[in-house]
Amino acid sequence: METIRPRWWKPARDESGNPAALCGLCFHCCLIKQGLSGRCGARRFDGSAFESPFLGKFVSVAIDPIEKKPLYHWRPGTKILSLGSLRCNLFCPFCQNHAIAHPKGETAAREISPRDLALTASRHGLAAVAYTYNEPTLQAEYIISAAPLLREAGIATVMVTNGLFSSEARDELATLTEAMNIDIKAFGKNSYAPLGAAEKSARGGRGSAEETVMENVESLFRAGVHIELTNLAVPGISDSEDRFAEMVNWIAGISREMPLHISRYFPAYRYEAPPTDIRLMKKLESIARGKLKFVHLGNVW
Ligand code: SF4
Repeated sequence: METIRPRWWKPARDESGNPAALCGLCFHCCLIKQGLSGRCGARRFDGSAFESPFLGKFVSVAIDPIEKKPLYHWRPGTKILSLGSLRCNLFCPFCQNHAIAHPKGETAAREISPRDLALTASRHGLAAVAYTYNEPTLQAEYIISAAPLLREAGIATVMVTNGLFSSEARDELATLTEAMNIDIKAFGKNSYAPLGAAEKSARGGRGSAEETVMENVESLFRAGVHIELTNLAVPGISDSEDRFAEMVNWIAGISREMPLHISRYFPAYRYEAPPTDIRLMKKLESIARGKLKFVHLGNVW
């Protein structure tokens, strides 16, 4: 496979004047010292080269109903080739995919070239590929390399993401991605702190994590990407009715027709609070239905 190089970084110096790398792919804007990795663990600097060892490498490949992403209003009833890789730029204590998002030790990953990806999707008669399961921002360079080839074969690109990419990466992804489900993990001041995102990016000057996600949603929507949003109601983290109502107002200000999936939390990974109360789920649904046209509850069976 042709080597896909990591981008959006530049040489820098650490506080002692030693060579370092400044990664500008996502909100965190990590200053990576020699021999170390960024917060995501997917980008590292060896003193001269900047590396992203998992680019183009995947640990999960599956064919899913598009509704599982969830995307309910874009090509409903179709199936999609889903790819998951390793690592994440958030640290949600309730992560259901922690085995690949924050793996312990080595995990075997399979390299798939963009051409093989297009062939595989075509052979299965699939018209879309989704980067999902772990955070696909970390595959941005691969997604950007593969998308034109996929388009030539009539295959669309979909991302299921936390939306914390930098504006530079976002603007390129916007031209190559047909649909995204963006997870609004929390809403309101400092709401991403329990998920491992500081109130303000250390170096990027892009505002808070929630502001970064909001800006990206609005920009991608205006660029013509089909956007559906997900909000997981986690007790003690993202279960405030007031903050939820503020989020709904914000969404409605962009478009009343932007679909919102409200998902019920279940205990996972390091978070043991009981599942979200069904009465709260119904209340959130009712708040959202007051402003938005397409509201879906998830995990409520
Ligand atoms: S966490 Fe974000 S900024 Fe830091 S190294 Fe990973 S992609 Fe780059």
